[in-house]
Amino acid sequence: MRAVDVIIRKRDGAKLSREEIASFLRGYLRNEVADYQAAALLMAIFLRGMDFEETAALTDEMMRSGELYDLGGLGLGRTVDKHSTGGVGDKVSLVLAPLVAACGVAVPMVSGRGLGHTGGTLDKLESIPGFQVRLDQERFKRQLCAIGVAMIGQSDAFVPADKRLYALRDVTGTIESIPLICASIMSKKVASGAQALVMDVKVGSGAFMPTLERARELAENLIGVGRALDRPVRALLTDMEQPLGVMIGNSLEVIESIECLRDEGPADLRELTLELAAEMILLAQDKQGQEERREAYEQAQRALRSGQAWEKFREMVKWQGGDVGAVDDPSWLDVSREIREFASPEGGYIAGMDCRALGNAAMVLGAGRLKASDTIDPGVGLKMLVRIGDRVEAGQPLLRIYQRQGRGIEHCCALLSKAFRFSETPVESPALIKERIG
Ligand code: URA
Repeated sequence: MRAVDVIIRKRDGAKLSREEIASFLRGYLRNEVADYQAAALLMAIFLRGMDFEETAALTDEMMRSGELYDLGGLGLGRTVDKHSTGGVGDKVSLVLAPLVAACGVAVPMVSGRGLGHTGGTLDKLESIPGFQVRLDQERFKRQLCAIGVAMIGQSDAFVPADKRLYALRDVTGTIESIPLICASIMSKKVASGAQALVMDVKVGSGAFMPTLERARELAENLIGVGRALDRPVRALLTDMEQPLGVMIGNSLEVIESIECLRDEGPADLRELTLELAAEMILLAQDKQGQEERREAYEQAQRALRSGQAWEKFREMVKWQGGDVGAVDDPSWLDVSREIREFASPEGGYIAGMDCRALGNAAMVLGAGRLKASDTIDPGVGLKMLVRIGDRVEAGQPLLRIYQRQGRGIEHCCALLSKAFRFSETPVESPALIKERIG
């Protein structure tokens, strides 16, 4: 089967067979199919879509592209993972994984790098000096058995298909596709051995799905593919009309996560983390219902307040080679001292934000990648000083910019100057949790 024929068939709107998907993907991983051909197929899928059968076949093929981690027989109970479909300032995983593990549920978490305007959990973790996100299967299992949590990424041995396609999508304008997002997320989640999954499906100007309809469609696809692979999936549709918490950027987000783990930090980050934790605990116990959810929520709240979640995070940092001193005293983390403020061009109530522009503004400073080969600067980013609904005066700072040697600053300010909408009348802040599905 020639790769170009598969591309042409999808370009012309045909449904691809399992054999075509498998042949293309295997050829790509053997380097017999070129990056430019894979990029062309991604764009054809982006434009033409895939039906459920094609999406499930793509997910299954991607999942089997590397080792499958088998966590059965380790006495871990029902393992649960969570994944976000991508947002700005979304550092939930850093708090959530140790928190849920502190509640006695094993969390084999597989995360990604920055994608488009959104930050990546792996890039954030790597801003902790020494932190290793590549663990082989043996180390991954040993850590899970010892402390109940490990956070890793795709590699050449583990879901290599997602590793390569993810990086290609990032730089070819092919991210916002339901079948591609679904296959990317579900392939790595199932390969890691997680037995149940909670999806945080982001919706709004900073999400890949800007409307509730599209977010629902994505959630239903994730749940459907989960069913086909025998993995129960529940989804929360959550707000991304404004950044989550106040920090955007790698070290800055680690600092904010540490505050949250120490039972401080912004209310929205804490609230969403507790809601997702409750959902994961319920899934691990195979329970549902209001009363059970309240109990699970309170259990997570206690783990946060008592310091157990924080201790679990420290243990994880130690196990994965990170410098515990740097998380105990986050002033050791690399944060740029070149700080300036961005003043409001007008007065009034903040009526809305272009959250994608805020993510891009951090990215051009060096917090994300413009090209696959770019290196990340952990110390740059933004600190939000306002939220939707706040009243501001003209000239009042809206945010703080952490820059390094002027890299990207003009582009950043140009993006920021169009990122806020103002109103003369009061505006309500959007609800954090919009829907639960599954
Ligand atoms: N997260 C992923 O892992 N993949 C996507 O495509 C989007 C979000």
